[in-house]
Amino acid sequence: MTVQFDKIVPPADGERVLVKDDRIIVPDKPIIPVIEGDGIGPDITRATRRVLDAAVEKAYGGNRKIVWFDIYAGDNALDKYGEVLPEDTINAIQYYHVALKGPLTTPVGGGYRSLNVTMRQRMELYSCVRPVFYFKGVPSPVKHPERMNIVIYRENTEDVYAGIEWPKGSDEVKTVIDFLNKQMGTNIRADSGIGIKPISEFATKRLVRAAIKYAIKRGRKSVTLVHKGNIMKYTEGAFRDWGYEVASDEFGDVTITEQELWDKFDGKVPDGKIVIKDRIADSMLQQILTRTNEYEVVALPNLNGDYLSDACAAQVGGLGMAPGANIGDTVALFEATHGTAPKYANMDMVNPTSLILSGVMMLEHLEWPEPVEIIRSAIEKTIQQKRVTYDLHRLMDGATKLKTSEYASALIENMS
Ligand code: NAP
Repeated sequence: MTVQFDKIVPPADGERVLVKDDRIIVPDKPIIPVIEGDGIGPDITRATRRVLDAAVEKAYGGNRKIVWFDIYAGDNALDKYGEVLPEDTINAIQYYHVALKGPLTTPVGGGYRSLNVTMRQRMELYSCVRPVFYFKGVPSPVKHPERMNIVIYRENTEDVYAGIEWPKGSDEVKTVIDFLNKQMGTNIRADSGIGIKPISEFATKRLVRAAIKYAIKRGRKSVTLVHKGNIMKYTEGAFRDWGYEVASDEFGDVTITEQELWDKFDGKVPDGKIVIKDRIADSMLQQILTRTNEYEVVALPNLNGDYLSDACAAQVGGLGMAPGANIGDTVALFEATHGTAPKYANMDMVNPTSLILSGVMMLEHLEWPEPVEIIRSAIEKTIQQKRVTYDLHRLMDGATKLKTSEYASALIENMS
């Protein structure tokens, strides 16, 4: 496979990451495309690159190195290409298989569709993966934040995010309402807006499959399917049923259901087994507060996943600390879970930890464990020294407030 770019030139001194039969093949100098993002994007991306480069250098002493390849999306793409999401950008991410991305602006209401959603759908990045765990010393609103150690697998391509909706009064909505009321026996008010919520067997199974594979690879003990199937039977209820189906059909030797756990094993998980359970979404929002450590890997449809991610992140330090990735069969795009926070743009002020930890997930994906450990312990040490950015500073007594760039320098200084 070759690729041709219009306005960008790949660096000459690196090589491409390859993916073959579910395996990733990583050269010592992988080319990693990077989108700096809008708003606070440039500040946090700059900090992240410095921290990742320093940790890789510390771990491998120059034998391994990330070769960054700047690509464009959002405001800087508009300047260079006259459009917000050029083909060069999609092509580069698909060709090089692994990329890092800062946040991108989505105007509310009119304007273009979310670039983030478009990228996920165009590249079939069907799992949104968000590990949520606690660093000692981070201020938290709960008594036991250390009990949170969850990895969220959120379906990324369908549900109400499929973008199928029509405004009140439009010709389209009239046609849809007319059809539903006249032919399907519904009674929808004429002044309604309509959105469609498709949830398919195919997309559910590939998401739950990815979540179970992750649990197997990382030695996690349970996968919980979170749904609102008591109300939305044929979408969310079906999500639950298909989730159980993929577990028993494809992973029957390593999984048991919660029902079997109690019926056959008196509640004690047999060695080497992963428990598949399910929870109703509203109850799950309580469970993560009251029985936090009973959940490990959690698989959800798109909208539930969005809500649960932020609720979990709030317990361990908020959005500034929450990493994420969008992963498909061959391509993985790592990004912070927060947005562009425009009021802080170019102020060198916000917390870059979310994007740095997304970079850590990227290093894990590249199977480079040494810099992962270096960065994790540097973050823990820096936070325990109470050297933090404004968001944590306002919640901590006696802390020193650092700029984004100073915090990155503190992390590098604390690498051992
Ligand atoms: P946001 O950018 O996530 O910011 C909301 C608030 O969260 C900020 O005002 C700030 O709170 C806090 N925050 C976010 N990032 C932080 C960081 N790195 N360090 C410390 N605090 C941080 O949400 P938004 O204002 O709703 O969205 C702004 C734009 O971003 C929108 O266009 C939205 O569509 C887009 N967005 C993009 C992505 C993405 O690219 N994946 C994701 C979400 C949103 P305080 O003011 O309280 O300090």
